[in-house]
Amino acid sequence: MSGQSTTPVDSQDEEPASALETARRQLDNAAAHVDIDPNIVERLKHPAQVHEVTIPLERDDGTLEAFTGYRAQHDSVRGPYKGGLRFHPEVSRDECVGLSMWMTWKCAVMDLPFGGAKGGVVANPKALSDDEVERLTRRFAQEIRPVVGPTKDIPAPDMGTDAQTMSWFMDAYSMQEGETVPGVVTGKPPVVGGSHGREEAPGRSVALVTREVCDYYGLGLDGTTIAVQGYGSVGANAAELLDEWGASVVAVSDVNGAAYDPDGLDIGSIPAHSERPEAVTEVADNVIPNDELLGLDVDVLIPAAVGNAITADNVDDVDADIVVEGANGPTTAVADRRLAERDIPVVPDILANAGGVTVSYFEWLQDINRRSWSPERVNEELETEMLAAFDRVQEEVDARDLSWREAAYVVALSRVAAAHEKRGVWP
Ligand code: NAD
Repeated sequence: MSGQSTTPVDSQDEEPASALETARRQLDNAAAHVDIDPNIVERLKHPAQVHEVTIPLERDDGTLEAFTGYRAQHDSVRGPYKGGLRFHPEVSRDECVGLSMWMTWKCAVMDLPFGGAKGGVVANPKALSDDEVERLTRRFAQEIRPVVGPTKDIPAPDMGTDAQTMSWFMDAYSMQEGETVPGVVTGKPPVVGGSHGREEAPGRSVALVTREVCDYYGLGLDGTTIAVQGYGSVGANAAELLDEWGASVVAVSDVNGAAYDPDGLDIGSIPAHSERPEAVTEVADNVIPNDELLGLDVDVLIPAAVGNAITADNVDDVDADIVVEGANGPTTAVADRRLAERDIPVVPDILANAGGVTVSYFEWLQDINRRSWSPERVNEELETEMLAAFDRVQEEVDARDLSWREAAYVVALSRVAAAHEKRGVWP
């Protein structure tokens, strides 16, 4: 297949050691294809700021525990910083910085007027009571209040956080500001300024991009076979839509294993993660192990569960014609290279699952205009934005014979670099 030819700049066969190293390598690879001032590339290898705070939390038993929180702000040349907040034991400074860089490219490839940020608290929310999570969230909001806001930096849910967390964050921020400020975070419930369609948006964008890339390679969706790893928010919504649009979803999985039917699963009969978590293998007629799903001979493989799912160890098993990344970072650098060598196109996360941040942008617009959009309007505008981004990336694939990932990075980096050039780096 076309769109696969270029050799990455570095020739290392080793996986990058961290999300930050991965993000820097990807930046170098993209910069090699763009006529860009090396001083701007140097600037973009670093975050503008990283805020580290201590969050004292009173546990339910009256003891005090100190947690560490971060907010990494990578680049705001095109608009306020934007990105999720994670509550997870493995949150680290470097991870936040690497993920904040990805957010810069994700917003830029979608042409949203936002820059990139990421943050989180080093904590396991499952080991805390609901009251403790609420106190942790409110105090974290207070600690980073000076550096966030609707025109500065707009957090959103990520691993270990959800719409409720965003409501508490918004409430704590608003209390201190003395007015209700819904635009300080996105991913809220609609009743407090959230957008319709936000929850299903990443899965919807994965489905739209899958439809478009199938069309590009001459496959109609009708009867196209699809395997989806991860039946959570992203995977289940993508699988449902693709099934509705005529594709044959032959396998879906959760952490316990995969349901498989070579003639196509009855997707409607498999409860989504939000209805009944991790129920795929309980309702399936035919269960296969997760690693077998990755090796199925299908038209499209959608890894939509976790990062680092396709690695040097299992990439040679992949037997799909096309990979569409639903999760963030599901393909390691070495695996990505091997897929390119085998001429298997990989549509990257920063394009495929960008429906989430795009509807977050719609939510922010609704909040600052105090006007809510109908679900139909959200979905129509999302489709318009996704098709525009897909077409722009496809132009680069065709014009320069780049991989889809390289092309997406080229589009994003060109936009960010052009803004830096016009504004000046002010060294
Ligand atoms: P989720 O928690 O709703 O679902 C994850 C699913 O993956 C669950 O079904 C779980 O059982 C399954 N899973 C976990 N480990 C697995 C494994 N090793 N093998 C197979 N299945 C496994 O998560 P989500 O919100 O759907 O997010 C999935 C990915 O998409 C993550 O990488 C996330 O960062 C990314 N993403 C999410 C959003 C969003 O707004 N939800 C937006 C963009 C990207």
